[in-house]
Amino acid sequence: MTHGFHPRRPRRTTLAALTAGALAAAAAAAGPVTGLVDEDPLESPKPALSPAPPAPVAPAAPVEPSPGRYSPVRYRDSRALGVPSAGLLVRGTRLPARGALFATWDPILRRTPNRRWRRHGTDDLVRMLIAVARRYAVREPGELPMLIGDLSRPRGGDFGVAYGIVGHSTHQNGLDADVYYPRTDRRLSAPRTAAQVDRRLAQRLVDLFVAAGAEKVLVGPNLDLRGPPGVVVPYPNHDNHLHVRIPG
Ligand SMILES: [Zn+2]
Repeated sequence: MTHGFHPRRPRRTTLAALTAGALAAAAAAAGPVTGLVDEDPLESPKPALSPAPPAPVAPAAPVEPSPGRYSPVRYRDSRALGVPSAGLLVRGTRLPARGALFATWDPILRRTPNRRWRRHGTDDLVRMLIAVARRYAVREPGELPMLIGDLSRPRGGDFGVAYGIVGHSTHQNGLDADVYYPRTDRRLSAPRTAAQVDRRLAQRLVDLFVAAGAEKVLVGPNLDLRGPPGVVVPYPNHDNHLHVRIPG
């Protein structure tokens, strides 16, 4: 089951193939651009077939993205206060529900996407997640997008049992994120057991987070995932996801 999330290959489109109207529609539909935009250029309107029909009227910029279109990341100058186990998040940056190269997973409802109030981090954390998702897609073409779980709440603070999960003793100041290991059966959902984890792809993710500058990558003790000692650390209850922490 693919859930329709296969990364798509770039579709070659020449500017000449686009009518002026289609370009205007694309510009209007793209909406405001703030900072790095995690948009899918493949979601732009298709070029008109020849003979070109009358130029469409450019629609008003949508408030919410239409189905199939990805929200831009609205980066804010975020600040992590305190420590991950007792902290707050100021001006948190929200990870979009999904992007061209990543999806989000709600570990309580066991569905994608994750709820928005569980997807806030510092701007640096969101940048790292998206950068690693892109590098993963480059290194592992044809694989499903990276599946991201909880970050922090919009203003940080406690993210423990009251919010549905046992094990989030941290995730309080926007520096932590969970990323689910790819599954051997290529389903875009969280593995339930270590046996469902594709260890080669899981190691790829670990390597990419280390290379991107992660401070810690907690990994499942039953997966034999490797990395620099003190950075990649086996930790209980991490056999279906890795936990990445960035420097504060
Ligand atoms: Zn975690």
